[in-house]
Amino acid sequence: MRGLALRDGGTDTLARRNGGPSFWYADTHLPGRRPPLPGDRTVDVCIVGAGLTGLWTAYYLKQARPELSIALLEREFAGFGASGRNGGWLSSEFVAPRARVAERVGHERVVALQRAMQETVDEVIAVLEHEGVDADVAKAGLLHVARNPAQLHRLRAHLEEDRAFGLGEDDVAELGAAELADRVRVTGAIGGTWSPHCARVQPAKLVQGVAAAVERLGVPIYEGTTVSEVQPGRAITDHGTVSARYVLRCLEGFTPGLKGHRRTWLPMNSAIVATAPLPEAVWDQIGWDSPATLGDNAHAYMYAQRTADGRIALGGRGVPYRFGSRTDENGRTQRQTVEGLVALLHDMFPATADVPIDHAWCGVLGVPRDWSPSVHLDRETGLGWAGGYVGSGLATTNLAGRTLRDLIVGDDTELTALPWVRDGVRRWEPEPLRYLGVHAIYRLYRTADRREMGGLDRTSRLGLLADRIAGR
Ligand SMILES: Cc1cc2nc3c(=O)[nH]c(=O)nc-3n(C[C@H](O)[C@H](O)[C@H](O)COP(=O)(O)OP(=O)(O)OC[C@H]3O[C@@H](n4cnc5c(N)ncnc54)[C@H](O)[C@@H]3O)c2cc1C
Repeated sequence: MRGLALRDGGTDTLARRNGGPSFWYADTHLPGRRPPLPGDRTVDVCIVGAGLTGLWTAYYLKQARPELSIALLEREFAGFGASGRNGGWLSSEFVAPRARVAERVGHERVVALQRAMQETVDEVIAVLEHEGVDADVAKAGLLHVARNPAQLHRLRAHLEEDRAFGLGEDDVAELGAAELADRVRVTGAIGGTWSPHCARVQPAKLVQGVAAAVERLGVPIYEGTTVSEVQPGRAITDHGTVSARYVLRCLEGFTPGLKGHRRTWLPMNSAIVATAPLPEAVWDQIGWDSPATLGDNAHAYMYAQRTADGRIALGGRGVPYRFGSRTDENGRTQRQTVEGLVALLHDMFPATADVPIDHAWCGVLGVPRDWSPSVHLDRETGLGWAGGYVGSGLATTNLAGRTLRDLIVGDDTELTALPWVRDGVRRWEPEPLRYLGVHAIYRLYRTADRREMGGLDRTSRLGLLADRIAGR
C-alpha cells in the first residue's frame, strides 16, 4: 500500500475522502433538498423511503393510474441510501437460493423469476433512455472469477445449477484461465464465467434521474421527513401524519429504524473504495478493456466496476453489522475495512499499487432471516413492502416497483405470480445473539476464504458451517 497515506480532516486515512453518501455524488454533486412534508395530508398511496424501490413504485403506479394521489416520504434526500451508494451492477442476479425456493414453489416459477430479472435489466435501460437519463450505462455483462480451486468448484456448481434452471451458453458461459485473461487479468485467477445480463451504471446519476422522472409525473417527494411508524392507513412523521389507503414500506437496510421493525431485516454493511483514474499503462497491464462488471467467488465476496472515467470502484463486506441494527454515520468507513479493500485491490491488480485511493464509503442493505427478497401487499390493511434484496437490488427494485403497481391496481399479472410475492419470514434473533451470530458467520467466512486461498480444492467446512448458521 505504497503512497496512500493521505490526510482527510486531520486524520491519516488510506483514502483522500472517507464518507459522505458516496463517490458517485462527489463525481456529480449532492442534489438540492426538496421541502419536507408541509403538515398532515391525505393521499391514495403513501410510499415510505425514496430509494429506488419507492421511486420505481411511484413511477409505474402514477403512469398506470394518473388519477391516484401519491406521496413519497424521505428522511434525507432521494437516493441517500443504498440506491446512491452501490457498486453499479445493474444485474439480473437474484439472491434467493434457487433450489430451496423451487422446492417450495416449483421449478417453473423460479425459471420465470429468472427471466423476469433478465428482462428487468433491459427495462431499466429502456426507461433511462426514454426519460433522457445519462447514467453512464454500458451493458457489457458480468465476469465472475475464481481465484483458487475451491472458488472454481463453487463457480462450476453454480453453473451446473444455472443449466438445471434453464440458463444456456447465451446466458452464462464458462471461461478458461486464458479466455478470462483476454477480458481481465486478475492475479491468481484460474477460471471464470461471463454473463451478458448485467450493465455497469453510475448509481447516483441513475437514482437522481429516476427521482426527477417521478417528479415530472407530478408525484411530490417530501425530503427531510422522518417516518417513525407505519400503521394501517397512515404513516406518522416528524412533520405530520399522512393518511392513505395504501402505505408501502420501502426502507431496505433502514427498516429497523421504524417502530416495531427492529428485527424485521438486518442492516448489513457493505463498503467500496474508488481509485483515482488509472493511467493507460496500468489499464494495459490489467487488460480490463470493456466495462464488464467483475466479481469473485469468495465467501466474503468482492464486486467491482470500471467507471466511465477510468477508475476502479471495488467493494466488499468490511465490518458486516453494528450492534443493535445501527447504521453507518453518513458513509464513513472504518480504517480496517478500507485497508482490507485496498489490500484486495492490490492483490488482484498489483499494477494499481501506486494509484491513489480517492474515496471510501459504505452503506446498508437489508437482509431478511431467510436471505430472500420479497414483495407483499395486504389488501385488507393496505400495508405493503418490497425489499430484503441482500446485495443485489439495483435491478430488483425495478421489478419490485412494477410488481407493487400491479398489486395495488389489483391486476393478476405475470409479475404478481412471481414466487417472491409472499408473506414475511421469521424475524432475526434479539441482541446480543444477532450481533454475535453475524460476526461469527463473517469470521468463519473470512477464515474459510484464507484457507481456500491456501490451496483447499473444495469449499472449506468453515464456509459450509457459516452458511448453515446463517440459514442460507
Ligand atoms: C455499498 C453497497 C453496494 C451495493 N452494490 C450493489 C450492486 O452493485 N448491484 C446491486 O444490484 N445491488 C447493490 N447493492 C444493493 C442495492 O443498492 C440496494 O438493494 C437497493 O439500492 C435498495 O434500494 P431501496 O430503495 O430499497 O433502499 P435505499 O436505497 O436504501 O432507500 C431507502 C431510503 O429510505 C430512507 N429512509 C431511511 N429511514 C427513513 C425513515 N425513517 N423515514 C423516511 N425515509 C427513510 C433512506 O434515506 C433511503 O433513501 C449495494 C448496496 C450497498 C450498500
